[in-house]
Amino acid sequence: MLPSVDELLRAADDAGLMARIGRGQTTELIRELLAEARSTATSGSSAEVLARPLTRDSYRQFLVEGLREAVERRLRSGVHRVINATGVIIHTNLGRAPLSESARKAMVEVAGYSTIEYDLESGSRGKRGIQAIELIKGLTGAEDALVVNNCAAAALFILSVFARGREVIVSRGELVEIGGDFRIPDVLERSGAILREVGTTNRTHLRDYESAVSDSTAMILKVHPSNYRITGFAKTPETTELAQLSAANGLIFYEDAGSGALVDLSEYGVAGEPVIRDVIAAGADLVSFSGDKLLGGPQAGIIAGKTKYVQILAKDPFFRALRVDKSITAALERTLESYMTETNLRELPVHRMLSQSADEIARRSARIAERLLDTQPGATGLMIELLENESAVGGGASPGSAIRTTVIAISHSASGAGEIERALRRASPPVIARIEDGKVLLDVRTVSEVEDDELAEAVGNALVAL
Ligand SMILES: *Cc1c(COP(=O)(O)O)cnc(C)c1O
Repeated sequence: MLPSVDELLRAADDAGLMARIGRGQTTELIRELLAEARSTATSGSSAEVLARPLTRDSYRQFLVEGLREAVERRLRSGVHRVINATGVIIHTNLGRAPLSESARKAMVEVAGYSTIEYDLESGSRGKRGIQAIELIKGLTGAEDALVVNNCAAAALFILSVFARGREVIVSRGELVEIGGDFRIPDVLERSGAILREVGTTNRTHLRDYESAVSDSTAMILKVHPSNYRITGFAKTPETTELAQLSAANGLIFYEDAGSGALVDLSEYGVAGEPVIRDVIAAGADLVSFSGDKLLGGPQAGIIAGKTKYVQILAKDPFFRALRVDKSITAALERTLESYMTETNLRELPVHRMLSQSADEIARRSARIAERLLDTQPGATGLMIELLENESAVGGGASPGSAIRTTVIAISHSASGAGEIERALRRASPPVIARIEDGKVLLDVRTVSEVEDDELAEAVGNALVAL
């Protein structure tokens, strides 16, 4: 009873499916469906075989429906917008920092022609991304700056330019893995630098660094441990002490701040993240940090520091391979401008989410919960509660510091939490939630206020369809 590939292709064309993904992909999906149908017919159990349609026409119809679902799955599988209801603000799997309105608008606007390397005043070639560099200098107090693809690129670049074939002194307490294959010993090895570890996991003294300095030392590297903290009987030298030791021995002092922060965010529960301006003031020759973590901008690696080192990097042929494109540059500029005008708490979503009060979150959650209950008249077994819980900064920043929040907890006597969570992922737009104690939790701290109605509707529809 199986139709031919050609017959299904015609049916797919008639059903408008081919136009959505093209002939090549449609043919590929049809072959997969037919292979699966053949395997069911020849080696499926009799129950499986009897569950399939039993006439030629109905079998073709069944396969076209299967094809429609496969096409939908394929179209969903790229990068698309989701609603982040996990309460993890800098969620690496969901794209880290959401951008400000002006950054989003700028990305789209400069997608056409732009002044990325053009000086409007003189009408001739301009320095690429010069405004972003000026803003970084102004906000960090650094003499000079450079923007590359991400912070991992910044670290590899700095180490390979200044320390290839020479020793880099690092505390044993800072030989960390940041996640996603970024491990400090491996990064050093790949850059060609030689790791000279000093101290112990919990305590490293200035004298440990001092006695490791030799003729082959190029650099002292301080790494912000990001997603990991050593507490209790722990010690590392102050940044100023390391900077002084480096200067006295003609070494470069480089700090990989990871997230770092351009402003102090400790009053919003962000703890232990160095403020970049302080690192520069303490005498760091070079510091690197990510654009899409606490900074709240696009993916980028920012290098700030002394002109003599930054200019060596800027003139290195490898820099060309790491540079960022026009949309990223524009988004970074607009993000940095929010700091300049001190409107970052209002304009940058990461900061707005961090600083949103527990009361405000509770009020929004209550309103959404009410709407959800309204859309489920007579639903039996469905339970929607408001519970106290905690949001997280994420992105490897400030581990262990929890931010008080209120979550909407959904459970159902007939459907498991896994089933509800899956239904939310298939909603339009997909809603990403988390499961705790057999309940699906929605934390609106990471949902923009303008998405509240959309969230309520998407979740309401998913629950009705359970
Ligand atoms: C996150 C992080 C990195 C990697 O930054 P990306 O921008 O993701 O490449 C490097 N070092 C530290 C200390 C980090 O926290």
